[in-house]
Amino acid sequence: MLVEHPARLLLVGPGLAPLKDRLLGLGFEVEGAPTVSRALSLAQTWFPLLFVLSSELGPDACRRLRQDESLVHVPTIFYSPRPLPEEALIQGLEAGANDFVVEPCSSALLTARIGAQLTIYRSHIALRDRMVRDELTGVFSRRYLFESMRQHVSRFSRPGPPVLACLMLDVDHFKAVNDRLGHLEGDRILRDVAELIYSMTRKGDVVARFGGEEFVVILPSTSPNGAAQVAEKLRRAVERDCRQEKVTVSIGVSWFQSRPSDDWGHSPGDEEVINWLLARADEALYRAKSAGRNRVSLQSEFLGEERRNFPRLGLTVGVSLGSPTGQVLHRIAEVSAGGMAIPDVDLRVGDSLEVTMGFDPPVRAVGHVVWSRVGEGCGLVFDGFGEGGREHLIRLLGHRTRIRRRKK
Ligand code: GH3
Ligand code: MG
Ligand code: MG
Repeated sequence: MLVEHPARLLLVGPGLAPLKDRLLGLGFEVEGAPTVSRALSLAQTWFPLLFVLSSELGPDACRRLRQDESLVHVPTIFYSPRPLPEEALIQGLEAGANDFVVEPCSSALLTARIGAQLTIYRSHIALRDRMVRDELTGVFSRRYLFESMRQHVSRFSRPGPPVLACLMLDVDHFKAVNDRLGHLEGDRILRDVAELIYSMTRKGDVVARFGGEEFVVILPSTSPNGAAQVAEKLRRAVERDCRQEKVTVSIGVSWFQSRPSDDWGHSPGDEEVINWLLARADEALYRAKSAGRNRVSLQSEFLGEERRNFPRLGLTVGVSLGSPTGQVLHRIAEVSAGGMAIPDVDLRVGDSLEVTMGFDPPVRAVGHVVWSRVGEGCGLVFDGFGEGGREHLIRLLGHRTRIRRRKK
């Protein structure tokens, strides 16, 4: 008997090769992992619906699988190629196994036992899906967003490269859209926007409805530049696809790279990091709104390595540069005088830049590059700005900023 849909089974432990062939023959999708550690990491990307554990690994292997929060409900069956004493079966079940398969076992019985576990697990998934999704738009709920952020944030306590970015999107003038087209049409537009965001993001990204006409997207393992480009792609897509109704979105982008305690004055907990990430995205969103809407804005200050490396300097800002690669970067440059820089501009440490900020009258400042990293951008320090200057620059956020290289 073949199962209806190929289900993914992850076989863990030694001596399971004959079983693997048999299960493949029965129509299952099967992967093998020689150890529990390997199974744990494979499960993060391959998403098995059931574990088959070699009984040689003993009950502790099952306990270890159960300890991973994301796998706690995935059914686990112990397998033994020969009969086992009753005591071993009891210990396995006590360790959290859902069933045992002991040879000799016919293929029909093997399929039935696996099928029974899959049915229970699938209904668990369906129920959970209803609980974690937003009813109107089908993307994740606000509740699930926090749950998933907790998982992501708890995974990176070490300093390192950027690992988590956050986009906060808000539909522009949505009250007016509702007034113009009616609430039901407003609902349809929210569904369309949600679908568009969902279809343009990756599988591991988390798309959630944060509130009325606000969405949050969590982008794991994404650099500031990557996140800024995703944001700009989404902004353009909404502008293009919802043209009839003239719907646009503003987007705030934040990111989190590490949590060195000297940046915070203490070691921040997961909740603090989550709130920080959302607050920075919200603040950037606010700037995008006040700069005219239908645009992307980035978080305004560095946290982490850059600041640690230059603690003496009164002001360190990264500057987004308009670049020959075009619009994406140019729009970002318009709304961000702080936060990050663009990688494909060839800037070296020590280079001087003249920055012209589009005020009336224009404000000029000379900055020099204090860090520069391929793929990440650069940081500038402006001469002659003290603490007051820093405030001044923060006020400039949202205004047009032009930058050109100074003649040597
Ligand atoms: P801004 O560009 O500053 O964001 O302006 P806005 O009008 O979008 O912002 P405001 O916060 O004033 O209004 C949000 C509107 O979103 C008001 C509310 O009626 C509408 N809204 C919130 N949730 C829903 C929903 O589920 N369906 C519909 N149709 N409208 C909603
Ligand atoms: Mg809003
Ligand atoms: Mg709005």
